[in-house]
This record gives sequence, structure tokens and C-alpha cells, in this order.
Amino acid sequence: IDWTDGQGWHDAGLVPYGPIQLDPAAAVLHYAQEIFEGLKAYRHADGSIWTFRPEANAARLAQSARRLALPELSEADFLKSLELLVSTDQEWVPSHEGGESSLYLRPFMYASEVFLGVRPAKQVRYLLIASPVGGYFAGGVKPVSIWLSSTYTRAAAGGTGAAKCGGNYAASLAAQLEAQAHGCEQVCFLDSAKHKWVEELGGMNIYFVRKDGTLVTPPVSGTILEGITRASILALAGEMGLKVEERPISIDEWRADVASGEITEVFACGTAAVITPLGRLSWEGGELEIPTGEVSMKIRQTLLDIQYGRAEDTHGWMHRLV
Ligand code: PMP
Repeated sequence: IDWTDGQGWHDAGLVPYGPIQLDPAAAVLHYAQEIFEGLKAYRHADGSIWTFRPEANAARLAQSARRLALPELSEADFLKSLELLVSTDQEWVPSHEGGESSLYLRPFMYASEVFLGVRPAKQVRYLLIASPVGGYFAGGVKPVSIWLSSTYTRAAAGGTGAAKCGGNYAASLAAQLEAQAHGCEQVCFLDSAKHKWVEELGGMNIYFVRKDGTLVTPPVSGTILEGITRASILALAGEMGLKVEERPISIDEWRADVASGEITEVFACGTAAVITPLGRLSWEGGELEIPTGEVSMKIRQTLLDIQYGRAEDTHGWMHRLV
């Protein structure tokens, strides 16, 4: 679907998957005026197809659009795009017997106007593509190793950290290489001002499990992406007999409380993996083994059961597409 300044959204359509034409002077190629979302379609045992909290993805896309000076797509149009694509390509949604398989949906919006000046584009395109995905963990859930970068940060106050824009991910790639060079799988980013406060991973939010059954997660401060999985865990914690705190947590607290046994588990969460335990924390000059436990796995199972229709959806989170 296209957007033109003064006209709004127009010419919605469904076309076969294939390359798109982009003028070499299209604004997105030069100034990265682009945003995206990520969600999944799940097939339930009766064959119906559902998404998890797509209204939250629509709201986050609109929030990203405001930050990147792009036009907002209404929730209704966003949901319509999911329904149209998934109902047309139903056979691509894996069978419910496929473990944690699903159809990954990738909505995105970019500045398609042809000009080289720096200003918000007056022509924009929204597209939705999809791809079947297997479970995030092929051979069972495995803890990931984490690198604490003292070189790179992901977001600064007033920047685009709270938006889901491509530029944020481009900026995190060098940090990912740095992590790999140190034998780690993922990066954990700290705040840009003091390099002290824990923010998030490259594509996941972070939670700490304390010995007394409290979950702690960094607050939404403008420099982390407000994950839908994160928000869902906040809502579920009480029902699962866990307390939850959104508050700043420093790297010193992380290290000291893992060492003393006060922090019993640390996990990351996001649409792709749902929840992944963190197994080892490394930084310039040291490393620490993080214990793993049952709390992360229990929350993971609870979310998966809701998403795959095996547990009652008491929050009204599931949205039927087909
Ligand atoms: N933080 C970042 C930087 C991400 O890219 C993602 C994935 N969208 C998340 C957190 C988790 O968000 P969600 O739970 O909505 O997938």
C-alpha cells in the first residue's frame, strides 16, 4: 500500500512475492527512513490461524512512524494487511504439530520518494512479507552467552532507541561482531551516558529472576524497544505467583547478585525465541556463569501455550486471522 502526502494511503494490493523496484535516489537508501515490525501467525489444533497481540504491533509501528517522520498506518489497515496475506497464503502456516513452528510476519514501511534532500519523504510504501519459521531452538532450549560491550551502545536519550527502525539494527551489527570475536553469541547493551545501567540485547529485552521470586526488568526509558513479550510477562507474572519490578538494574548489581546467589536466573525475551536463558556473561577482563532454572522455562511454556491455543486466553491477546 502506498502513501502520498496530501492523499494518504492508497492502492492497497496483493502481489506475488518478488523483487521490488527502487530508484537509486529513493530516500530510504540514503537516509534510512524505514521502520518495521515482527510477529508470528500460529496454527491451532482446529486449523484456525491466530496472531498474538497484533494491536500492540500496530501501536508500536505507529510510534516508530512518528519518530521517523513517517505516516501512521491505522490499526485497522495493519490488521487487514495481516488477514489478507495470511488468508491468501494459509498453506504456509505450519501445522500445529510442527512444535514451535509458525509463519513469521514482517511488516515494514520505507521512504520511496525520489529526491536527495534531507526532509521527510512525501511518498512512502508499506509492505508485508512472510516466511515460515521453525522453533528458535532446534535441539531444545539452550542458554546463550552474552558479551557486555564497553565500546558500543545501542541508544541514547532523545535518539531512536524506542523505535523499531532499521538504522538501530545497522548500528548494532559491529557490536555483534565484537561479541562473536569474544566467543559470545549476543550483546547486552548498557546505557550510553554512564555505561552502567543494563538496557537490552540486540533483539530482545532482559529479565532477572531473584531468589525471592521477584522478576526485575529495566524500565521503558526511551532507550529500549518496548517489547510485546516483555509487556506480556509483566502482565502474567502476578498470575504465576511472581512479583515484578520495572526498575533500573546496574551491571554491578547483576554481577554481585549472581555471585551471591540473589539472582537465580537471567533471561531474554522477544517474539522469535519467546524466552531464552542467558548462560554466561563476559566482558573485557572477566566472565561469570549465570545459573539456569525453572522460572524462565515456566513463563516460556505459559506464553507458548497461549500462542498455540493450548491454554485459555484470559487476557484476550489472541487475534484470529483465518
Ligand atoms: N528489543 C529489540 C531491540 C528488538 O528488536 C525486539 C524484537 N522486536 C525486542 C526487544 C523484543 O520485542 P518483542 O517482544 O515485541 O518481539
